[in-house]
Amino acid sequence: MSEQPTLVSGITPGLTIRAEDYGDNPIADWLCACGHHERTTTARGVQLLAARVRVGHCPHGPKGAAA
Ligand SMILES: [Zn+2]
Repeated sequence: MSEQPTLVSGITPGLTIRAEDYGDNPIADWLCACGHHERTTTARGVQLLAARVRVGHCPHGPKGAAA
């Protein structure tokens, strides 16, 4: 399968962390290859998201395999 994800302007697939005053106002955006987008804006959330994301691996299976 080689489906191309629909790209959102300004965001590329993968995990993007913007750490303005890191620890206070970090913002993490995860755009999965499948198009799933998730954002977290807490230091703890960023840590958890970074730990969960596996670049190139989509946990959102088309058959509802997401945990
Ligand atoms: Zn996905």
